[in-house]
Amino acid sequence: MNFYGVTGQTSTEDAKKIIDSIFSRIPYPTFVTDNSTFEILYQNKRAIDLTGNKLGHTCHDVFYTCDIPCIDCPFGRIGQEPISVVRRNELLDKNVKWQFTNIRWFDNREAVLGIMQDMDAEISNVELEHRVKIDVDSTNKNLDELTQIPNYLRFYANAEKDISVNGDAKYAIVVFDIDRLKSINDLYGMSGGDETLKHVANTLRDLFGSEENYARLHSDFFSFYMKYEKKGDIIKTIEKLRKKIADNDFEYDINTSFGIYLVNDRVVPINLMCDRAMMASTTAKGNVIRFCAFYDEQYREDMIKASQIEGDMGKALKNHEFKMYLQPKYRLINAELCGAEVLARWIHPLKGIISPVDFVPLFEKNGFILKLDEYMWEEACKALRSWIDAGRRPIPLSVNISRYHIRHNNLEHVLRKLLEKYRLTPDLLHLEITESLFLDKPEELNRVLVRLSKMGFKLEVDDFGSGYSSLNLIRNISVDTIKIDKDFLDSEMASEKGKIVVNHTIDMAKDLNLQVVAEGVETKEHVEFLRNSNCDIAQGFYFSKPMPLEEFNKLDF
Ligand code: C2E
Ligand code: CA
Ligand code: CA
Repeated sequence: MNFYGVTGQTSTEDAKKIIDSIFSRIPYPTFVTDNSTFEILYQNKRAIDLTGNKLGHTCHDVFYTCDIPCIDCPFGRIGQEPISVVRRNELLDKNVKWQFTNIRWFDNREAVLGIMQDMDAEISNVELEHRVKIDVDSTNKNLDELTQIPNYLRFYANAEKDISVNGDAKYAIVVFDIDRLKSINDLYGMSGGDETLKHVANTLRDLFGSEENYARLHSDFFSFYMKYEKKGDIIKTIEKLRKKIADNDFEYDINTSFGIYLVNDRVVPINLMCDRAMMASTTAKGNVIRFCAFYDEQYREDMIKASQIEGDMGKALKNHEFKMYLQPKYRLINAELCGAEVLARWIHPLKGIISPVDFVPLFEKNGFILKLDEYMWEEACKALRSWIDAGRRPIPLSVNISRYHIRHNNLEHVLRKLLEKYRLTPDLLHLEITESLFLDKPEELNRVLVRLSKMGFKLEVDDFGSGYSSLNLIRNISVDTIKIDKDFLDSEMASEKGKIVVNHTIDMAKDLNLQVVAEGVETKEHVEFLRNSNCDIAQGFYFSKPMPLEEFNKLDF
């Protein structure tokens, strides 16, 4: 969107002045974002002073500083009605404050307008009011209606009082929920669900008695806090509670997942401690052996990092922030440059170069890898076409194929289209398929590989030796090359026995008519060993690190 177009001015400078003047008069921090990438296009000084966000930052920057990570970004949910979000946000000066943000479509859905308001004083007062109320009248108020045990307000007040009074004691906040309560509701009706919740509440009451250190927080989330000496004390309490909950007359099992927050910073508000314990409980979900998990600061940071990356990825692809790097492969027998692997790098405008190890696993989870891979394949095809057009020898390029592509049946179609568009023959594109894929449904994989092979692509088994690899597994599968994993090479090469294993692997691969590539070749010793073992091709830092196309073009080929 050309935001300055909204004023009807022909000159961008004039339009900018008018907009500056309008926005500077709005007494609240205000910003405008793009309608699809949610990139900040404009903001007034109040917004800059409050958040420190820059133009070009996305909605995730607007929201990621929440001290409760904003997983469910409201920008994706704007409909006819504006959306209001109240959140606690870490400000530029590192202070944590309550804020209200209202976002709505603007200028016929061309943009999003956001207005913020400082609500710290109001919300803190409300919190205070609740506390006073609870102290004055704690007999029957703030009980959960269904289960008649304390609700979250009473819990926060009780926990805050106890934890602040007993300054020297160690405390833990534990939050848990019932696994698949929804299925219980579906199968046994709402009353079945209600009875389950009441049973859990009664169990808490039986276990803790009049201490009132427990609550039903909301829906199927319950909590308690306790003093502890060793972490084992907490686990023992949880085990006891779990057992009592599981011991019932229902026709179904009641399983629970627990998250534990150890109170080491008493300044953190109780509700935030509960949020963190709850976040930990999600990591224990569905895990039969590990039914509880401790809150880990690293986990929170990882989640924030992941949500930032997810917020930026669409825009990054559009802005060509992903760049193809090429790592040369050399034939060991004559040191000929015989191929290169295509590896993605993210050149982030603010964060610099981001390594694929930081984004590929996340993209594999959220499906974005499909788009990234296709983008990288196209970059590879463009490079091949540019070499042919320049009269150079086209070096075959190996691209990575993620597991998603094997399941989505348009893989062949996408590749065929690319070959047509860039007028290339398939032998110039080698497809690297990671070994772990061969363990999972090998027949399904083989069907796809046979078709690709018939189309003329060369197929390589990537990371060979990293898992439970066995040549037996790929014996009946139509691949051309195995790529020995770099870790395998590293660890096995350390001992004489290991060297024998690598040697035999290469020998057997050759017997099966497979070409062998070794990756992660870092030393002269590696090269000599591989050459003596009849390995065909080597790739690694010993020869060259991955490099941008401009640099690769300077190589002699
Ligand atoms: P990979 O496919 O096993 O790629 C080889 C990795 O080893 C690359 O890391 C490369 O830089 C690194 N490497 C090369 N030579 C050496 C060496 O001598 N020593 C050591 N220690 N490492 C070496 P990179 O580029 O960080 O990529 C990591 C992984 O990310 C790749 O592992 C691949 O699984 C994935 N990846 C990278 N780009 C893409 C992509 O475009 N699509 C998909 N699906 N995955 C990608
Ligand atoms: Ca690879
Ligand atoms: Ca590899």
